[in-house]
Formats: sequence, structure tokens, C-alpha cells
Amino acid sequence: MKELASIVSALPVSTALTVDLRLKALKKLGMDVISFCVGEPDFPTPATVCEAGIRAIERGDTKYTNASGAPALKAAVAAAMLRDYGLSYTSGEIAVTTGAKYAVYAAVRAMVDPGDEVILPAPYWTSYYHIVRLAQGEPKVIRCGVENGWKLTPDQLEKAVTPRTKALILNNPNNPTGAVYTREELMSLAAVCRTYDLYVISDEIYSRLLYTPEPFCAAASLDADMHNRTVTVNGVSKAYAMTGWRIGFAASGNADVMRAVSALLSHTTGSPNTIAQAAAENALLGDQDACGRMREAFLRRRDVMTQALTGISGVRFTVPQGAFYVLLDIRALLEDGEYADEADFALRLLEAEGVATVPCADFGAPGHIRLCYALDETRILEGVQRLKRFVDSGVKAHA
Ligand code: PLP
Repeated sequence: MKELASIVSALPVSTALTVDLRLKALKKLGMDVISFCVGEPDFPTPATVCEAGIRAIERGDTKYTNASGAPALKAAVAAAMLRDYGLSYTSGEIAVTTGAKYAVYAAVRAMVDPGDEVILPAPYWTSYYHIVRLAQGEPKVIRCGVENGWKLTPDQLEKAVTPRTKALILNNPNNPTGAVYTREELMSLAAVCRTYDLYVISDEIYSRLLYTPEPFCAAASLDADMHNRTVTVNGVSKAYAMTGWRIGFAASGNADVMRAVSALLSHTTGSPNTIAQAAAENALLGDQDACGRMREAFLRRRDVMTQALTGISGVRFTVPQGAFYVLLDIRALLEDGEYADEADFALRLLEAEGVATVPCADFGAPGHIRLCYALDETRILEGVQRLKRFVDSGVKAHA
């Protein structure tokens, strides 16, 4: 047989998937595994949202919609963006996608030609890297230090720009660090983007899961220029516990970008799932209490997890300001050579204690693992206790 496409063949199997496969195998063998892996709310989708989906089926709302989404959902997205972030978009400036992941993919494909560079502040959500590669673009990874709260500085951004730089992908709040950019920080990055005429893809999928005293600042809300050069990515997956419904959206004041995104959608996904669109409309326009309660629960769980983690020697972390992850620096534990790397550590932790974590080299953070705290508090405490036992036993073995 002839060779497969080189670009797709080069896609690596993620180490998170290796952990996930082993986790499933151990569960099958009867092990009580605590998973800090999956990045999704453990809450059920709110009942009223599910009922809206059921009503859509009963109405026979089961045909294609516009490739870029049903007008009713676009209107709901516009209303929610205005209500939640002061972001003003017309329906024509919004495209509904199959999850926020596809919104990122469509935005990158709309902007990036082979050889174009896309700036990725690290740590980053692993899919950005591969999406840029699928477009034959060059991910330009910039390491953002913990000393700067894991955030990109304007100076770093400016130094990374070349004549081939097309775009910057910002993730705010960030997966896996939980870092959140302030309005002032965004303004100073926006100034560099303006100087070098860069597009911005601002993935704000965790914007409702925010634990800062200040309200969330959407990059596109800064000024007219940012409204135009930014594609805002958001969706219902994380805020409304709707990961399986697969509804996200992209929005931009730039009509050319949105035309390209819509054309791409028309030839790839066709249209988003109709039933899920009806449910998403209900989520965005309906009672927001469930969303608020989930955020409060995540905040409590964050505190439970971070307090418990402080009892483990040899690990470091910063308290996340958004999303539902803690990025754990385990480099001190890797120093003595007992573990080959963070992936080896994660797999051995899983085998020994039944605790699953995500090794983060694929997230641009070698020497780190990610712990998701979207599970109940007793399981979080039990999982962290097991992690402590594992770390302590390794330390003792070397004493
Ligand atoms: N963006 C980030 C930063 C994420 O962490 C995720 C999922 O983990 C997504 C996008 C994907 O969202 P969706 O499930 O809506 O495609």
C-alpha cells in the first residue's frame, strides 16, 4: 500500500492516552482507580438543558441547519457573550462548531498557510500544537515561567515575532496552569499584536470557571482593533457540563475570517448536531444558577486539592485562578533518576496507587503532571493522599 499522508502520520499518540488506556485496563482488573485525568465536569448536564434536547427530537428538529449554526443558537450566543463579557457580535460574526476544539481548528485553518508561524505560549493545551501542524504551520513555542504566573509577557511576544508570524493562540483561563490574564496584561499583549498585525485566537472555554476577584476580561472586548483581529473561541462543554454534546463557537469582528471559517465548516462538519444546538441555546439563555453552583463546587475542590498538595514534599504548584486543573512541578522528584521522566512517574504512580494523572511534556511542560479536580472532595483527598504515599515511598527508598 502507498504511504499515508505524512502530516497525519506524524501525529503522535498522546501520553495522556497511554495513561488512559492503562487506567481502563486496571479498572477492568478491579483496581479502585482515582482519575485526575479527564478534563470534564463530573456533574450531569442540567436537566432543563437535557429537556430542551428531548423537545428538539420530539419536534422533529432533526435536519441539517446552516453550516455555521442555527440562527436561534447564534442569537443566543450573541446574547450570552454580551451578557457575560460585554462582547458584541452580530449573528453573521458567529459560527457554531462541533465543540470548541473544532472552532480552534477552523480558525487556524482560516489563517495559516504552510510555513506560517503561530505563537504558542507554553504550557499550552496540547491540541493547539497539532492543529497548527495539521495546517502545515510552525508552532513557535514560548516558555512562560512560573515566576510570571505562567503568562506570556509583551517582551517575550515581541521577541518571538518574525515576518512569517501569523497568529498568537491565547488560552485564558489556561489549561493546564489555571493562569488568568488581567485586562492590563491583555492590553499590553494587544499592543504588540497591533504593531505586528497578528491575528489572535483567544480560547476562552474556561471563562465561566474563574476564581479571581476581578471579572473575566475577553481579549476581543478590549477595543475595536482587538474585536477585529481576534477570533474568540468558547462553548458550552465546560461551563454547562456538556462535553458530550459537542457545541462550541468561534466569533470575530473580521468578516473575512468568519467567511473562511463558515466555508470550511460547510465542507467538513456540514452542520453542528441539531439536537445539541437546541440544548446549547437553552443552556446559554436559561437559568444560569446551575452554572454558578458548579463554579462554586470547583472552587471548593480547588482549595481542597491545593491544601492537600501542600503536604507533599518535593512538588510545587501555583494556585490556579481558573479552569479545573493543577499543574504540579515534579522536577525535584525526577532529579535522582528513579523515574525516566514525568510520563514514567505518572505510569508508575498509576500502577502503584491507582492514581491517574496527565504527564505534561505534550503540553509544553516537561517535568510536570496535570491533576484535574473535577471530582468529589473525598476522592480528591484520597487521591492526593495516595500520591503523597507514592512520593514518600520513593523518597524513603533513596534516603
Ligand atoms: N480548549 C481547551 C483549552 C480545552 O481544554 C478543551 C478541552 O479540554 C477544549 C478547548 C475543547 O472543548 P470542546 O470539548 O468544546 O471541544
